[in-house]
Amino acid sequence: MAQLEIHQFPCLSDNYGVLIHDADAGVTASIDTPEVAPIEAALAEKGWTLTHILNTHHHGDHTGGNTELKGKTGCTIVGPKPEAAKIPGLDVAVGEGETYDFGGHVAQIIETPGHTLGHIAYHFADDRVVFAGDTLFALGCGRVFEGSMAQMWSGLQKLMALPPETTVYCGHEYTTANAAFAVTIEPDNRDLLDRVREIEALRADGKPTVPTTIDRELRTNPFLRPAIANVQRHLDMVGADPGDVFAEIRTRKDNF
Ligand SMILES: [Zn+2]
Repeated sequence: MAQLEIHQFPCLSDNYGVLIHDADAGVTASIDTPEVAPIEAALAEKGWTLTHILNTHHHGDHTGGNTELKGKTGCTIVGPKPEAAKIPGLDVAVGEGETYDFGGHVAQIIETPGHTLGHIAYHFADDRVVFAGDTLFALGCGRVFEGSMAQMWSGLQKLMALPPETTVYCGHEYTTANAAFAVTIEPDNRDLLDRVREIEALRADGKPTVPTTIDRELRTNPFLRPAIANVQRHLDMVGADPGDVFAEIRTRKDNF
């Protein structure tokens, strides 16, 4: 089977739209539907026909285009079972440990509650890619709106356990702001400092900093590093429970 083709493009002010495609199977999915016009433009540019929408969570900047796109294309909408009532046009509800077969590419469904209570990520293991929605960002993580800090940390740990080479697509370009915060948590992390320079150069050229990889996030993202001694030392929390350290980092970011 061919590798999934993936096309990312900006939507709204700081969202990303993503299309995934398999030519042999004749399938194309939009990961979430932040904004109809750029999604349609991307489909036209690629010459792809929309057959699926894969929603990660119910927020309007992720499901806002569902109804219009389904009306125009008759596509199948897949989304999180725990938020089924909040996903416009939902056809197939999926939950933790289940799989969804997208034209022969099997997505493992990972529930990552916290940002919303039913948030899911789609992990295509054979294609080494995860669509993490608003759970994991480059150098950041989603705000904890509906769930608890403990739920968010538990969801992030599931993503941390994916193979390190896994490519991570996420819902937003928040990396510059995330980088400014990350260096306050771990000002002496060499990998982080190198990455901040890369990010500044990319953004100066108007280029995206997404996708990223699990490995890169494990080495530099403060929200994935609450168990790391260097992070605990800077927070004066040596020996603390990583879940408590995560909550401290998330709270500091909320007030940054
Ligand atoms: Zn959201």
